[in-house]
Amino acid sequence: MRKPIIAANWKMNKGPAETEDFLKGLISKIGKATDKCDVVIAPPFVSLPTATKLLASHDVSVAAQNVSQYDAGAYTGEINVMMLKELYVPYVIIGHSERRAIFGETDEVLNAKMHKVRETNLKAIFCIGETLEEREAGQLDEVLRRQLTEGLKGLSEKDVLETVLAYEPVWAIGTGVTASPEQAQEAHAKVRVILAESFGGEVADKVRIQYGGSVKPDNAAELLAQPDIDGALVGGASMEVGSFLQIIENGS
Ligand code: PEP
Repeated sequence: MRKPIIAANWKMNKGPAETEDFLKGLISKIGKATDKCDVVIAPPFVSLPTATKLLASHDVSVAAQNVSQYDAGAYTGEINVMMLKELYVPYVIIGHSERRAIFGETDEVLNAKMHKVRETNLKAIFCIGETLEEREAGQLDEVLRRQLTEGLKGLSEKDVLETVLAYEPVWAIGTGVTASPEQAQEAHAKVRVILAESFGGEVADKVRIQYGGSVKPDNAAELLAQPDIDGALVGGASMEVGSFLQIIENGS
């Protein structure tokens, strides 16, 4: 039985003050929702200390949105895994499509990041997903296979078990267009087949795979009811306490 995991990706929104406001609201209203569902908040780097302090005694986890593949040194603007450990941040999002498309992060770079993350026992939320052009060209299978094989190359079964995958079709992110439950389920099932080939059936069966792409309170239930969908990575609709809580309630 895979426990659902619902994560908020705030992208470049909410500094420390807004983070504090949101989290105080969330804590006051979340009740027993985390019994049925793991909840993760990914604020920008500068808001991580606020988030980890406020959530220290609550059953809500924190994720960074990115981390460097390098150790300490002359890498201006970067944050390394040890810095996240020092802040008690347990999760980090790796390979979000915005990092791939806007910041040019390749499968090779993302694989190096995954190794850094696992070396320090952080948990990744590893994102994969096809563009509209790739889907229309019939390349869904090929793209998922490449992203998973290259991105997770050299990791152990245990590493993969400690990883959450997020299938996020690029055409559905921030567009208001959601993959239909059938489209999402089909892709998630493909992901499990590819994982089984590389890491074995047991790992493929146990790994949690989130769906991401315009998840909202009114589509969360149907998406998360699909057999291979184990949660959601939520952008826009995670920005307000009310809609995020509604997604958690409807999806778990
Ligand atoms: C995301 O940023 O990962 C995402 C899925 O965004 P949205 O929910 O806004 O589509």
